[in-house]
Amino acid sequence: MALETRPVTDLKGVGPSLASKLEKLGITTVQDLLFHLPLRYEDRTRITPIAELRNGYSSQIEGIVHDSRIEMGRRRSLLVQLQDDTGRIGLRFYYFTAAQKNQLTPGTRLRCFGEVRLGRTGLELYHPEYKRVNEGEPLPVQDRLTPLYPTTDGVHQGRLRQLCEQALELLERHPVPDYLPQSLLDELQLPPLNQAVSTLHHPPAGADLDQFSLGIHPTQQRLAFEELLAHHLSLRRLRASIQHHRAPALPDRGKLSQEFLARLPFALTGAQLRVVAEIRQDLAAPVPMLRLVQGDVGSGKTVVAALAALQAVENGTQVALMAPTEILAEQHYLSFSQWLQPLGIQVDFLASRSKASVRNQVLERLARGETQILIGTHAVFQEQVRFAHLALAIIDEQHRFGVHQRLALKEKGANGSSTPHQLIMTATPIPRTLAMSAYADLDTSVIDELPPGRTPIETIAIPDSRRNEVVERVRRACLEGRQVYWVCTLIEESEALQCQAAEATAQQLQEQLPELQVGLVHGRLKPAEKAAVMDAFKQGEIQLLVATTVIEVGVDVPNASLMIIENPERLGLAQLHQLRGRVGRGNIASYCVLMYHPPLSHMSRERLKIMRETNNGFEIAERDLELRGPGEVLGTRQTGLLSLKVADLERDKGWLETVRWAAEQIETDRARTDALIRRWLGQNVRYGQV
Ligand code: ADP
Ligand code: MG
Repeated sequence: MALETRPVTDLKGVGPSLASKLEKLGITTVQDLLFHLPLRYEDRTRITPIAELRNGYSSQIEGIVHDSRIEMGRRRSLLVQLQDDTGRIGLRFYYFTAAQKNQLTPGTRLRCFGEVRLGRTGLELYHPEYKRVNEGEPLPVQDRLTPLYPTTDGVHQGRLRQLCEQALELLERHPVPDYLPQSLLDELQLPPLNQAVSTLHHPPAGADLDQFSLGIHPTQQRLAFEELLAHHLSLRRLRASIQHHRAPALPDRGKLSQEFLARLPFALTGAQLRVVAEIRQDLAAPVPMLRLVQGDVGSGKTVVAALAALQAVENGTQVALMAPTEILAEQHYLSFSQWLQPLGIQVDFLASRSKASVRNQVLERLARGETQILIGTHAVFQEQVRFAHLALAIIDEQHRFGVHQRLALKEKGANGSSTPHQLIMTATPIPRTLAMSAYADLDTSVIDELPPGRTPIETIAIPDSRRNEVVERVRRACLEGRQVYWVCTLIEESEALQCQAAEATAQQLQEQLPELQVGLVHGRLKPAEKAAVMDAFKQGEIQLLVATTVIEVGVDVPNASLMIIENPERLGLAQLHQLRGRVGRGNIASYCVLMYHPPLSHMSRERLKIMRETNNGFEIAERDLELRGPGEVLGTRQTGLLSLKVADLERDKGWLETVRWAAEQIETDRARTDALIRRWLGQNVRYGQV
């Protein structure tokens, strides 16, 4: 039976109990076991002369006990001096028995394996494994490197090694199919699959351990490439299956957009015009648009979204615009109402907290087709929400919605017979490497230009011991007629505690600054209360607005020129950048004060430094990716997209162009593509099953 489908229970010693433990490691077939690769290796293939030992490396040595004694120090330990022809080294044991001590007498020959560390007597072997070597009975060395596998409760290293041995024996007789064509392997100079797999389990003596630990050995690269290819193919498959459906063709008639642009108090930037043209073309086609618009905070994505919406409305269809937070949704609702109601367009709002009576009215208008644009939070995804003829879904800040939610949209198309166009907007710039892998199913447009007249924000970092100076600075700014945000970032399990902390801060600041009007917004205010506070801030009645991170997105007050962020070290860079984007919206010089709580870790210092050094969201995202890795950058909800087993996006980003090219070559071979996706994405082939 093919190893791809052969159950692990076929191996000797695997009963139901072990099988269920293996399942926790994602192993159900013999092939899975073969793809369960070692984390690292130990080199027991040679004996290292003591003089050549290097700090930090695990090594095998052999020598004669010269001396053995108990040291008292901070912790009692046994120190054994071992000597060979080249030198002497201490073996350090913190746990030892009297019998052990008595056995390690001068003159005894030992073979040891352990990690070399810098200890009290110079280099020492820390808790080595050791064996006595008897006169005339030399011990053999191993001929291959020893693998160390990722383990789980109840399946220890020795067991895994044994099982992998069995799997490798089977592999000799029943090679697993190599889905990469030979011509491709030749061109990329990658080894064949079966060879790569068996080498990875048992690299030969003399293999370059450094290369393995960096993940750049050709065998690892071969698998990393295949894995990236499988992920890429699955996303393309997702795209193809959506675009297999029809979408309403929405030709640009130009009338509404001209009216709209004529009323707008500014002209679009070149970047906005370019992106609008790209969207226009997509919408005119009878195939669902799948487009991601990336643009830094303040680059003017909302206007672009409005123009797309107009094109749909002009063709007699409906538009849904979804935002991840209520505040952001409300802000969009305000902008769209202001812009579009004068053109006679019916814009409605729906959030989970909407009152039942209001909600029912909206749902009815929607079903009758009277609502032309519906703006809301994820409530828009809910089942009861029925459109008469939805043709365009706009999703702001997509990284907070899952792929699933995006797919649920398909169901909401007109009578289920056509699929809406999808426009996804993100203010978190996505590093190119991530865009190419996690978003391979989308076309991308970038608004890479800010509207004219923005002044760059100056960012400074100050320890919270200087809070009083910061408060003074707030006072001065407000007395000069400016407005200020004060952001509390307490990360607590409960939203209630967060809000309490913000309340306390607001109260304290009001006491310190009696001459100012201090306002407070947080997630637990009722929508009407929140709207009232935001409105008062917009009108300038409130000078200092204390907020939790709910103001992260969507608030637009050009007169606000100073933002204080407490404990910025607790937030991701993308989030800090979003927050900071609330100031610097007018033509006044703006400042952002990162008031951190010392001491900062090295990583936190690096991250605050990035914030001080650049205002460019793309650069911040790239550097954040380098520091933290893709899972963190994309947010937890999306990490599933990128749970890579072998590949590492940062390390292997050089492959991405080639992956795309290779995908195009083999995509038409459906069986091959299916098998590849199944091998790497396993049971969760989410993307293929649309
Ligand atoms: P974001 O891309 O962060 O969503 P917005 O769409 O909220 O940005 O736009 C930020 C601000 O810039 C808004 O006040 C908007 O009206 C304004 N704006 C957008 N485009 C332009 C432009 N071309 N010229 C001047 N101001 C613009
Ligand atoms: Mg926006």
